Amino acid sequence: MTAAAIVVAAGRGERFGAAGNKLLLPLAGRPVLLWTLLRLRACPRLTEFVIVAAERDREAVVTLAEQALPDRPWRMAAGGATRSQSVRSGLAALPAEVEWVAIHDGARPLISPALVERLLDAAQVAGAAYRLGARCLEVVREDGRVRAAVEGPDGPEEVVARAAVLAGGVRFRVLDRAGAVRPRRLLQTAQTELPMAGVDEVEVYLGREVAGGSFAWAIPTVGKRVKLGVCAEERAAVLLERLLAGPRIAPRRLDGVARIRSKPVPVRPARRTAYERVVVVGDAAGQVKPTTAGGIYYGILCAELAARTLDDGLRRGDLSARRLAGYERSWRAELGRELRVGSAFRRIGERLDDKRLDRLVRALALLPADVHALVAGGGEERGALEALAASLGVADRFHLLGPREDVGAVLAALDVFVVCSDREGLSNAMLEALAAGVPVVSTAVSGAAEALAPDAGGLAPGVVVGFDPAELAAAVGALLADPARRLAMGRAAARRARERFDFERMLDAWEAVLAG
Ligand SMILES: Cc1cc2nc3c(=O)[nH]c(=O)nc-3n(C[C@H](O)[C@H](O)[C@H](O)COP(=O)(O)OP(=O)(O)OC[C@H]3O[C@@H](n4cnc5c(N)ncnc54)[C@H](O)[C@@H]3O)c2cc1C
Repeated sequence: MTAAAIVVAAGRGERFGAAGNKLLLPLAGRPVLLWTLLRLRACPRLTEFVIVAAERDREAVVTLAEQALPDRPWRMAAGGATRSQSVRSGLAALPAEVEWVAIHDGARPLISPALVERLLDAAQVAGAAYRLGARCLEVVREDGRVRAAVEGPDGPEEVVARAAVLAGGVRFRVLDRAGAVRPRRLLQTAQTELPMAGVDEVEVYLGREVAGGSFAWAIPTVGKRVKLGVCAEERAAVLLERLLAGPRIAPRRLDGVARIRSKPVPVRPARRTAYERVVVVGDAAGQVKPTTAGGIYYGILCAELAARTLDDGLRRGDLSARRLAGYERSWRAELGRELRVGSAFRRIGERLDDKRLDRLVRALALLPADVHALVAGGGEERGALEALAASLGVADRFHLLGPREDVGAVLAALDVFVVCSDREGLSNAMLEALAAGVPVVSTAVSGAAEALAPDAGGLAPGVVVGFDPAELAAAVGALLADPARRLAMGRAAARRARERFDFERMLDAWEAVLAG
């Protein structure tokens, strides 16, 4: 068996943020590419080497190859614009007698010679070929085989096989043609990468206005670059543009231009992922975390389980739907619990709106056992909030009163009124609480600081806190423990409502504004 190695080393180091080719940078005292070549040289079956490099790096790469491969034939090939073009260029440079090829990324110096040997063995036993730059048009299941129509670099071709793995991500055309079902739910993502100041940690943004149904993120990558993205039920690109222009991001942007890429992501697995002679893996099967749509780990895990089931089926000569259903059972057994918990969290998250009553439930869990929370009004969040309260052990202290006509009586029963929203204009409910003489604890939503500011005598009708449930709990707890302060604040609250927000006074103020 004659085997050759193609080492692809034509990158520009853009993602890495290096000025030149990252493979030429030192790692533990030696250039990365030198480490990689030395590892591959330790594999005796590799009798030929082709190193694919860009013209500008040629001289440096030749020096490294001379150093690493003094006793093996090697040659250079020109790098292409894409990775697959570089590999094709490497293949074209191989001597005709080479039968087997190991293709390796020069940026991965930890490859072990033993792994290369195992891969060569496996390829020799099983037969393996990569069809690079080829597009699969359809996969058809027929009696005793699968047939794939492929559009390759050299024109159309047909590939016949015993089984097929459909792993085309969210491009579902082949899946549909093969009669396999799609993931049950998709969301939209939009992402861009741009330089920003002051993003040192991952930031996550929630709320319907930011990313309806999901979340937005800022992830620092290299240097000052940040990946900024939105995952949402719909219009992700519009939401991302809004985020880019909004107060969270705009002041920290260091660059005016941001190219947005959009892509759907699955958040719920397909009902079925195994058929006769066909299994579906990765995003195509919806094997992702329901909360984040992250699918890299699940995809790798499920690919391994699919390979095991197929290997077993091929050995037994049984690729029936029944045999391959073993794959479906194994990945669901492995991930089922995580998927169920993740889906439950997603449902809770989706039903919670910007009022963030979940924050109140979490704060309640931090307060003494004799503190109760009352919520008047109805809404779709009821089930999710009850589930959260039960999970935090406060179901008996969290009371959802439903729609009420007697809001005055409810307010009169309160010691403290809480606003726990992510965002509000000037909360009407808060103004009603002030009018009823109830002191307020509010998150720092836009109208709160002004409405609850101390009066001339230094007495405030309420307290403004941050968005952490612990802060909310501390402020509520302090007020509950101090009846005298509560009483004084309640009086200040009623006064504030009368003096600033009384209907007649507000009309007067509006008239004054309109009169110029
Ligand atoms: C913006 C964004 C950020 C993400 N961040 C994370 C993260 O931080 N962590 C995480 O775990 N996951 C993340 N994910 C999800 C992750 O990218 C996917 O779950 C993962 O890539 C799925 O792998 P896959 O191999 O199933 O599909 P893909 O990565 O989509 O690969 C499918 C491949 O098949 C090819 N293909 C499709 N159709 C054909 C055809 N007909 N013929 C030939 N080839 C075809 C495609 O070109 C593609 O190369 C993110 C996704 C997005 C959109």
